[in-house]
This record gives sequence, structure tokens and C-alpha cells, in this order.
Amino acid sequence: MTLHTIKVLFLDRDGTINQDTGSYISTKEQLVLIDRADEAIALAKRAGFRIVIITNQAGIARGIATVEQVEEVNRYLNLLLSAKNASFDRCYYCPYHPEYPHPDYDRFMDCRKPATGMVEQAIGDFLAEGLVVDRSASFFVGDKTLDVECGMRAGMRSVLVRTGHNEEKLCIERNIIPEFVADDLYKAVTEYILAVA
Ligand SMILES: [Mg+2]
Repeated sequence: MTLHTIKVLFLDRDGTINQDTGSYISTKEQLVLIDRADEAIALAKRAGFRIVIITNQAGIARGIATVEQVEEVNRYLNLLLSAKNASFDRCYYCPYHPEYPHPDYDRFMDCRKPATGMVEQAIGDFLAEGLVVDRSASFFVGDKTLDVECGMRAGMRSVLVRTGHNEEKLCIERNIIPEFVADDLYKAVTEYILAVA
């Protein structure tokens, strides 16, 4: 098999691509894109990035959302994004929550961000297709400290966005420092990622 090297834009979902409602999103109606998030993803794709969503969805372990609901919302998100040529290549979600043990989901413990299980899974799945992820050319964008930490642990370049939970202060307090802080995903892509990639 011939191997090709690729760069990936890893994205958190809630609060980064779509608005964080303050609770778990279980229906299509609750999913509202953040302004120009779709344009940002389209620009990154045009610049050669693969798009992978990495999202904690512990609402599943907590009994607030079902696997089927989460997958339906993810499909709907990709439908919305595809209208702007911004569809994602892969999407991984983690159902596990440390405070809500569940026999079906405890094996996903190492997937919950800031752990890097989902990122490693994505990299492994690409490799199975002959695609080698260049970590040093790949980015992780999210609205929380755990996103920044996950990206750093996986050897990516981390960018924090001020949408969603906007944990800029918390990042400083915990000394988990992103490479760049942007007002939103559009600015993260246009003002930083495409400028330094
Ligand atoms: Mg988020």
C-alpha cells in the first residue's frame, strides 16, 4: 500500500462548530451553527486539511441522550456543513463519564478528552487507509481547556476559541496554554491556521 501524508484539523463540536446550549444536544432542532463555522471548515478543506470531529458526549452515560440521538445529530451536522462544502471526514464521540459508571461505556474511559483515545483512533483509522497523519502539521481547535490539553498531549498544535465556554482564563490558571486564541472558529482558521500552516 502506498502511504500518503495528510494534515488534519481536529475540531471539538459543541461550542466550537455549533452553539453550546448549556446541556447535551439530543435533537436536530437544538443544533445551531456558530456564525461562519461552516465557511471556516470549507476554507480549511480547500487548503488540504482533513476534518475530524472529536466530541465528549457523556450525556449518553448519564442517560440524557441515546447513542442513536447523538449519531443522528452528527449526521444532521454533516448535512448542514455539506451545504457549504464543509462536510467532515470523520466524527468520534465519547459516551463515558467518570461520575456515571456504565457497563457499556466504561471501556471508553481513555477516550474522554483530555485523554487522546479518540485522536489516536482517528489516526489509526486513517493509517488503515494508507494515510499518515502529520501531527506537527495538524491542529486541534476547541472552546475548553480539555480541548487544548488533548491537542497538546496528542502532539498537535492547539487553538482555543472564545465561543462556547470560552475557558481562556482557566487555561492560564492551569498553565495549559494554546498556541493561539481566536474569537471564533472562522478567525482561528483565517487569522491563524491558514496563515501558519
Ligand atoms: Mg466544546
